[in-house]
Amino acid sequence: MQISTYRRATQIFFILLIIGAPFLDILRIDSDTRSLIVFGKEWSIGLEEGFYLNQSFENASHVAWRFFLKAVLPWITVLSIFPILGALTGRFFCGWFCPEGALFELFDFFTMKIFGRRSLFTKKPNDPGAPAEKRLPYIILALFSMIAIPLFMGVVLTGYFVNPRTVWTQVLNREFTFGVKAGIIGVSIYMFISAMIVRHTLCKYVCGAGLMQMLFGWASPVSLRIKTDVVKLGACTDCKKCEKVCFMNVKPRLLRKDINCVNCGECITACNKELGKNRGVFSFAQSRSCVLPVKEAVKKQDDVLPDHEKSLKGEYYEKTCH
Ligand code: SF4
Ligand code: SF4
Repeated sequence: MQISTYRRATQIFFILLIIGAPFLDILRIDSDTRSLIVFGKEWSIGLEEGFYLNQSFENASHVAWRFFLKAVLPWITVLSIFPILGALTGRFFCGWFCPEGALFELFDFFTMKIFGRRSLFTKKPNDPGAPAEKRLPYIILALFSMIAIPLFMGVVLTGYFVNPRTVWTQVLNREFTFGVKAGIIGVSIYMFISAMIVRHTLCKYVCGAGLMQMLFGWASPVSLRIKTDVVKLGACTDCKKCEKVCFMNVKPRLLRKDINCVNCGECITACNKELGKNRGVFSFAQSRSCVLPVKEAVKKQDDVLPDHEKSLKGEYYEKTCH
């Protein structure tokens, strides 16, 4: 099975988890009781009503401890997930799990089929070719998706703040309270704009989870990255398929760590298709810098390259290895 098949499976799994979490009481806020529900249990600081009336030192210590244990510590734990993920796996979460990233890829797919480019507005050098010969089915699907998906996600995400059963009942009866209506409209507009206009620019410059993974992944000596095999690079046909599949506009042949790479692995698959199974230039690795020291790598490359390519590939490597 190819990397992209596994990746689609993890993306679908995570989308289903996001949809199901409030329904299954895995995580949601109950607006009726104003409490947080985590795995079916009410999460509260656990202080009795009127706790502030007792102003003794013991009571103050008890309140501070409960607050630290039930509010500060869990919050720190949640916030530390993305730095830890970043330090170990780079932006792997963005490429394999993020539901919003998956949505952006879906709309990339539609615009590629309809306009022959990823963006609605501009063509980029790595846009993969011409639009589909029969565009009508894609146009119909895209129009349906651009309305249905933001609305559906508006309903789902509102269920994180209002009991999802209440939300769906109101949707089915078409009778909305102000809060539910505002939630659905607000989320739908956000989803529509981000999927239609912003897309991966949001991943690069706005998303807090992405930025944390990016920074910690960049600084970590052991974070997951795409390794370019400098020896196999000698067989590169310059087909540019590795660049065309990259929705983050990374040039994986450049031998440096690009903070925008989400470790999706699509370039690995593309190059294996071009050069043959296991002959592709790219693989996943956990290291900081170039695979080999510059001179050694150049020499190794020269050993496997035909004469007319030797200097070219050597220069290429020396210029790009940081
Ligand atoms: S460089 Fe490769 S792994 Fe990184 S985002 Fe681009 S296609 Fe995905
Ligand atoms: S896909 Fe492989 S062969 Fe094609 S340009 Fe990229 S590295 Fe070279």
